[in-house]
Amino acid sequence: MTAAYVALGGNLGDPRRQLLEAMDALAHLPGTRVLRRSRLYRTPPWGVLEQPPFLNAAVLLDTDLAPQALLDALLAIEQRAGRVRAERNGPRTLDLDLLHMDDVQLDDERLTLPHPRIAERAFVLLPLNDIAPDLRLPGQGRVADLLAAADTQGCECLIEDRLAE
Ligand code: ADP
Ligand code: MG
Repeated sequence: MTAAYVALGGNLGDPRRQLLEAMDALAHLPGTRVLRRSRLYRTPPWGVLEQPPFLNAAVLLDTDLAPQALLDALLAIEQRAGRVRAERNGPRTLDLDLLHMDDVQLDDERLTLPHPRIAERAFVLLPLNDIAPDLRLPGQGRVADLLAAADTQGCECLIEDRLAE
């Protein structure tokens, strides 16, 4: 079994529902358990600014899926949530990124691990810090330190009460 850290995001449709359903779908993957779930965050759009705010979260999985098989499963869950691939950084119902797997480093045409752009993204670091503040990402650093250096302006944590709505 390997620890795997997955980022969830979305800004079309009903992002909160899509994120919660995606967490359930992850829990039902073969050989996989969800060990931790972050809170939900509302964050400003990145790159393409003229689009609705995003909801973001992160989960810690324990899985016996290989990295490529886990990526395939993430892309299949995105598809079922109605993901349409249009412009890079553009609006989407659901984005699932594999951030890191313990003791795995790879870089091929389909998959780069650790995900290379964690350090610069508050919308990834805020939820990741909920579930793994002491995680050390090879080549980037410790999650809590990365978050302390990140620009979190405009990001807000949604209080737990609203999660239960
Ligand atoms: P982004 O998440 O950067 O906005 P996409 O969700 O459209 O872009 O992903 C594009 C491709 O990135 C995926 O089809 C996948 O093959 C590739 N990719 C490379 N490394 C990763 C990773 N660590 N996690 C998720 N996708 C990755
Ligand atoms: Mg993605």
